[in-house]
Amino acid sequence: MTDTPNTQIAPRRWSVPVDVAGVVVGGASPVVVQSMTNTDTADIQGTIAQVAALARTGSELVRITVDRDEAAKAVPHIRDGLLKRGVRVPLVGDFHYIGHKLLAENPACAEALDKYRINPGNVGFKDKKDRQFADIIDIALKHDKPVRIGVNWGSLDQELLTRLMDENANSAAPKDARQVMHEAIVQSALLSAELAEKLGMGADKIILSAKVSAVQDLIAVYRMLAARCRYALHLGLTEAGMGSKGIVASTAALGVVLQDGIGDTIRISLTPEPGGDRTLEVKVGQEILQTMGLRTFVPVVAACPGCGRTTSTVFQELARDVEDMIRDRMPDWKVRYPGVETLTFAVMGCIVNGPGESKHADIGISLPGTGESPAAPVFIDGKKAMTLRGPNIAADFKTLVEDYIERRFGVGAKRETTETAV
Ligand code: SF4
Repeated sequence: MTDTPNTQIAPRRWSVPVDVAGVVVGGASPVVVQSMTNTDTADIQGTIAQVAALARTGSELVRITVDRDEAAKAVPHIRDGLLKRGVRVPLVGDFHYIGHKLLAENPACAEALDKYRINPGNVGFKDKKDRQFADIIDIALKHDKPVRIGVNWGSLDQELLTRLMDENANSAAPKDARQVMHEAIVQSALLSAELAEKLGMGADKIILSAKVSAVQDLIAVYRMLAARCRYALHLGLTEAGMGSKGIVASTAALGVVLQDGIGDTIRISLTPEPGGDRTLEVKVGQEILQTMGLRTFVPVVAACPGCGRTTSTVFQELARDVEDMIRDRMPDWKVRYPGVETLTFAVMGCIVNGPGESKHADIGISLPGTGESPAAPVFIDGKKAMTLRGPNIAADFKTLVEDYIERRFGVGAKRETTETAV
């Protein structure tokens, strides 16, 4: 099974590519998934563990907070600790208010980071604003690092907003306040990028973002930004929220913008449950891109929703087990079986749609619904291959999946392909 060619999606907007320590954002590169830690960066071991978990899940860039001297001093140790574990993910430093000072006083931190995030709304105030912004750009130039100029409406440049509001109030045809706010967000990003270029930074070192927390605002702002510049764009709905609300809001917003061909890297800003799994934001980002047909990360499991024909939990448990198995095994599979991410699985609840959907997958199982005989036909490459019975259907199916992957993507399969080609 291969991805269905997507004929509806707009051609990707061209942007100047930015190389972040080997991960290219923009240009013709695939949309990059990134994430952010929620550990105290001064907690070196805790931050290493979370960055490693995010990277293992597939985060291609990881951002860490650098909010004080202890955090800045921890950064080189975090970098070294990650390298010792074999984790080579680019690290982005998130700076607010005192980034210029932290970077100047901690050159090892400036060197260890692969990109700096600057918030134009709080880089400095009044006469200090441009000077402190310039200080960060100078340090980025000295260390040859790219920057993200990341506007956030929660910390929008109030002087700029006030000026635009005043101009709007005095204009012949005033716009509504929301439109003025959109303009202020976009101008804040573009004016800062213009200043960075005047200071000597190339467009190939600048990524822009303009995050808001409402879906319609995000769509409007990114359409404006995309029409007015060629910088690579980082997409994300800020403060998306918790659980299904955060996932739905992020998906609705990013889905529309990505469909327009806009966006070079994404971050899903989910609020985790207390003690929750931070890697969820990476999984959601990957799932958005994969379900839209933009990238392929992991095999897809098609599972029916279940209904009155599935009164036992066998079907839900198997669907969950197969999903968990894929996530657990993927880091190993990716190395051993290139191409495995394109596979499709089906786990279906009964005979109504089970055999049909299973035939469309590379490997699928149709479990017995209520009242059906306790037998589960398995379909491989569109044909019925066998029927599983008994108490170990789940374990047997997982073994079949492993065997199928080995057969199709393992060393033997490669040898066979080479011999056929010869
Ligand atoms: S395949 Fe069967 S169990 Fe699943 S939703 Fe359809 S009718 Fe219900």
